[in-house]
Amino acid sequence: MRKKLMAANWKMNKTPDETRAYFREFLPMVAGHDRDEIVVCPPFVDLDAAITNVKGTLVAVGAQDLHWAKEGAYTGEICASMLVAIGVTHVIIGHSERRQYFGETDDMVNMKLKSAIESGLIPIVCVGEVLEEREAGLTEDVLRRQCLRALHAISGKKAGKLVIAYEPVWAIGTGKTATPDMAEDAHALIRNEAAKALGEDVAANLRILYGGSVKPDNVRDLMAQPDVDGALVGGASLDPKSFAAIVKY
Ligand code: PEP
Repeated sequence: MRKKLMAANWKMNKTPDETRAYFREFLPMVAGHDRDEIVVCPPFVDLDAAITNVKGTLVAVGAQDLHWAKEGAYTGEICASMLVAIGVTHVIIGHSERRQYFGETDDMVNMKLKSAIESGLIPIVCVGEVLEEREAGLTEDVLRRQCLRALHAISGKKAGKLVIAYEPVWAIGTGKTATPDMAEDAHALIRNEAAKALGEDVAANLRILYGGSVKPDNVRDLMAQPDVDGALVGGASLDPKSFAAIVKY
């Protein structure tokens, strides 16, 4: 039985003060909610405030990115050991906005994933097709390629806590959501690719999140799909009431 993971991706939103205000409102609403794992991923500058606020609760804190190197001359970057040192437990890797606006490639995703795994962070690797790819019937090819390259030379033994998020790019921030059937088809394909790369056991335990305009009113139908193991939520996670409603669907 896979425990669902409900993850908030705040993207480039909120200051440390706004982070503290968010948790003052959010934490009482999810107190004692242990059916699902909950993780909030704020910008780097808010991580410390978030971690201080969630101490003693069931909510975890994740970063939105990391660099693959252990340390060094990479101005502006943050590495895995820095995140671990302040109490971050999860990290989003390969979000489509990073691929689209910052030139992140499948190979970079693979290097970041290796670094996260070695440091004991729980990686949330994002994959998903753009609209033109879906319309051209290329969704399966794109997902296969992204999974194959992200998981290249990753050992099944070490990938135990890996999470993959299926995020159709045309559904991110657009208000358009994949239907539950579309999500299920993509998730089943991703689980199959994970089985080939990491082994059947790892794939059976792998949590695959759906992301793309998840809202309180559509979350239940998506979560009812057998291969949907949680949600990665952008816009609707910025409001504590709406993210709490999604978590407690
Ligand atoms: C995301 O950015 O990961 C995301 C799914 O965004 P939204 O929920 O706003 O579509």
